[in-house]
Amino acid sequence: MIETVIQVLKNAKSISVLTGAGISVNAGIPDFRGETGIYTRGLYSENVFDIDYFFENPKPFYDFVRVMYPVFEKAKPTLAHKFLADLDHNHSVCIVTQNIDLLHEKAGSKNVIHLHGSVERSHCLKCGKEYSFERLKELVIKSAVPYCESCGGLIKPDIVFFSEPVIDFDKAIECVSASDIFFALGTSLEVYPANSLVQFARGNKILINKKETEMDYLFDIVVHEDLDNFFKELQSKGGIV
Ligand SMILES: [Zn+2]
Repeated sequence: MIETVIQVLKNAKSISVLTGAGISVNAGIPDFRGETGIYTRGLYSENVFDIDYFFENPKPFYDFVRVMYPVFEKAKPTLAHKFLADLDHNHSVCIVTQNIDLLHEKAGSKNVIHLHGSVERSHCLKCGKEYSFERLKELVIKSAVPYCESCGGLIKPDIVFFSEPVIDFDKAIECVSASDIFFALGTSLEVYPANSLVQFARGNKILINKKETEMDYLFDIVVHEDLDNFFKELQSKGGIV
């Protein structure tokens, strides 16, 4: 299996990659539905990330921010993130991520599409004033729910909540349909529309995820393994760059 992936990578000029929470678990960022996921452990319910619930009661979401922003800040890219960043040297790479953690950028990847937004910035929903990651982190320590310093409006991070449209999906389709290989990494492929990107892929479709997904059958190569283990082994066998 690994030999096939190495060969496919050698022959490819352009690569598109869809990443999900599974790629960041080894960086200490819990996923949602995995063994130690935040839904699985009942830490936060799904409605915390629902936009209508947020407007009604933003406090539970900001309880999540207070705990998780320091985790995002400290997290370092994994071997898999670094492997993908290294591909930039000799390939045209486009990463489409469902993650809000910015670890692809920290690893050095140049071309990243954030379908679900990221924690980098927040905005006041009333006047549009921008708040940095740092500033929001400070504000949630001072108050249960952060309100705009200029107008008193509610602040919301630029991340996509449930029932909100994803960002740059047209760009994601464009890069997936133009690439020689499509990787889906660390994603359970349960969230629409990210999971529909596989339909736009031509060439080799490769899925690497710890657990089986309902979309395994759509891929040419499927590996159920820890991502870092997989790429470590691939590198030890002389794969890339
Ligand atoms: Zn404002």
